[in-house]
Amino acid sequence: MSLLLIEHPWAFAMMGLVLGLIVGSFINVLVWRLPKMLEREWRAQAHEVLGLPAEPAGATYNLMHPNSCCPHCNHAIRPWENIPLLSYLLLRGRCAECQGSISLRYPLTELACGLMSAWVAWHFGFGWQAGAVLLLSWGLLAMSLIDADHQLLPDVLVLPLMWLGLIVNSFSLLTTLPDAVWGAVIGYMSLWTLFWVFKLVTGKDGMGHGDFKLLALLGAWGGWQILPMTLLMSSLVGVFMGLILMRLRNTQASTPMPFGPYLAIAGWIALLWGGQITDFYLQSVGFR
Ligand SMILES: [Zn+2]
Repeated sequence: MSLLLIEHPWAFAMMGLVLGLIVGSFINVLVWRLPKMLEREWRAQAHEVLGLPAEPAGATYNLMHPNSCCPHCNHAIRPWENIPLLSYLLLRGRCAECQGSISLRYPLTELACGLMSAWVAWHFGFGWQAGAVLLLSWGLLAMSLIDADHQLLPDVLVLPLMWLGLIVNSFSLLTTLPDAVWGAVIGYMSLWTLFWVFKLVTGKDGMGHGDFKLLALLGAWGGWQILPMTLLMSSLVGVFMGLILMRLRNTQASTPMPFGPYLAIAGWIALLWGGQITDFYLQSVGFR
């Protein structure tokens, strides 16, 4: 089986696509439920700290329970209505029961996850590297969506994935362990420093602490070498997108915007193509 996948990279890429579509479907659930689960937990903790009477425990709510249901009519989603991408196309984006519309975001997330996974499988070929980077890619996608929705990068996702980066690089899977450790340290410290300089000069919070941890995570996976390109790309795209969103939504520059998705996308690109992009740049300015 593994020999077949090594000899036929396209077969492995197809497997990545199908697996990515299925994981994308789970990411939709995670992105919807995890922030709600965390909020429940924080409320319970706050009540305890403030000495307030505990709120009545509601129905069980976690990633598995209750089953997914239509937000319009509450009918439980049947297995055949839950096939990634296909169900959306077959149902033409409407609930089978009440014809309420299903957000286009769900199939798009599944598709994006499928394509990313196929690309990672193709890029690395069958092996441990592909497996590790698939996990990273899925984690980054989930974090980006949660940050875009709630301006929150949950520690429960960011920290384990940062440790996993250091662990995989203890086997020199993507970079050496010293480069990975310094990637995490410099990643965290660079944005932490920027945050405090910005705060001392302007008196405002320029970004969230989750962003420092996310850049530490990226450094732990790709080594310190990917940090400059990640920061450069994410700031350029962030400023560009920020200007567009400001125009579209008619908001002010002071309106907080999530930076996590840009960091995640830039870091992912730098990890996969950082070497090629740097070579291309150096060649085009005549250094090589
Ligand atoms: Zn419905």
